[in-house]
Amino acid sequence: METKTDQQLHIFFLPFMAQGHTLPMIDIAKLFASRGVKSTLITTPVNAPLFSKAIQTSKSLGFKIELLVIKFPSTEVGLPEGIERTNCRKNQEQVEKYFKAITLLEQQVEPILDQHRPHCLVADSMFPWATDVAAEFGIPRIIFHGPGFFFLCASTTVMRYQPHREVLSDSESFVIPGLPDEIKMTKNKLAPFLTLDGESELIKLVKASREAEERSYGIIVNCYYELEADYVDHYRKALGKKSWHIGPVSLCETEKDKAERGREGSVDEVHECLNWLNSKKANSVVYICFGSLTNFGDCQLLEIALALQASRQQFIWVVKTEKNDKEEWLPEEFEQRVEGKGLIIRGWAPQLLILQHEAVGAFLTHCGWNSTLEGVCAGVPMITWPVNADQFYNEKLVTEILGIGVAIGVQKWEHVSVKSKASVKKETIEKALTGFMVGDEKEEIRSKVLVLRELARRAVEDGGSSFSDLTALIEELKSLGS
Ligand code: UDP
Repeated sequence: METKTDQQLHIFFLPFMAQGHTLPMIDIAKLFASRGVKSTLITTPVNAPLFSKAIQTSKSLGFKIELLVIKFPSTEVGLPEGIERTNCRKNQEQVEKYFKAITLLEQQVEPILDQHRPHCLVADSMFPWATDVAAEFGIPRIIFHGPGFFFLCASTTVMRYQPHREVLSDSESFVIPGLPDEIKMTKNKLAPFLTLDGESELIKLVKASREAEERSYGIIVNCYYELEADYVDHYRKALGKKSWHIGPVSLCETEKDKAERGREGSVDEVHECLNWLNSKKANSVVYICFGSLTNFGDCQLLEIALALQASRQQFIWVVKTEKNDKEEWLPEEFEQRVEGKGLIIRGWAPQLLILQHEAVGAFLTHCGWNSTLEGVCAGVPMITWPVNADQFYNEKLVTEILGIGVAIGVQKWEHVSVKSKASVKKETIEKALTGFMVGDEKEEIRSKVLVLRELARRAVEDGGSSFSDLTALIEELKSLGS
């Protein structure tokens, strides 16, 4: 009789439906598949086309990677059909219902595990129930969090020791105790829902996720040892967390994958923007993108547009607002005035290809973890403009610990839904852009980030730190099977 050890290791991957979570999880599943593991990704119908495109290359190479589509429980929670991804939600009511729906997915994942009996379930931290479901079938649940070790150490410490309770105002800084470096934070830069007591669906989810973490088998992190060595060690030794660093996972993407990554429409725009970059000198263009979720209101977009115009810098600016007749955020004849100098991409940009283009000399980023890591892998210095989530922590890593970026100076966490004000003014943006592009500091910063780029490349090569940690994890999971 065939025992579990004789079988090929089979892992199920359950990504949270937001690009910043989905894209790295697809890469993770591809990585496992490339190392001889059978990988099955689970998603819902609206998200499925992105997945099937993304795994084509792996399949064509003969790797065992499959997609399993489950129904999104829209009707069960009273959501209109089609709202199956975080950026599709239109108001707070839909946000609450969406989080309820995420919880209900458990009812479909359970019978699937029962039917397929994989050896392990890798599920996003947004699915706390996955730990118990995996336990029912006697298999380990591994958590995928998204952000890196510095964030994990800092946020776990803040949650454990609550240093923000010691300060008198939201702008007074406090030191996060016990970290390898002296890191100061303010309450203004922490998620408001973490410092308030309340019972929204999101707060419930965050609490449940933290509890589930204590009972899960371990955590995989999209990072490499050399980038945050002190924090990898601190997380494992001082905070006692079992974890594997297996990134940067986007380095497994082929050029074709990079062009199609996260894209729903045609790749023509990809070629257009690369042709535009081909006409520019090395390191002369600022790439501006705030990730997949941040969608500023008209007044903030207008401040950015005015700053770009005044700075006279060359730029690619990704704007999530769709084109329409009345674009109040664009100064009159803006596009004519910046023609040849600047390019606005509406919708989805081929970020990995843009960042790796030699014409790109700086990345104005919201410091989402994927963007941060992608900036490092491309060797591009960063100008940091965090908005919310883990981004203020990531900014600290980039500017204070690694010294590969400069902060624009944002002081306060902001909801993506706040559209009525511009928290960063034209003068600040212009000063940051010009100061960086014409100043002397950028060369020193660039040389640091280029070293990290090389270390990232080596980490994922055979024998590198991430390659070896992934081998260790696969071997451990195989031994559990026996
Ligand atoms: N991204 C992209 N094109 C866009 C916007 C985002 O390719 O126009 C990708 C980006 O490369 C990254 C992910 O989407 O991999 C966004 O993740 P991140 O953690 O940076 O930010 P989030 O969207 O979660 O805030």
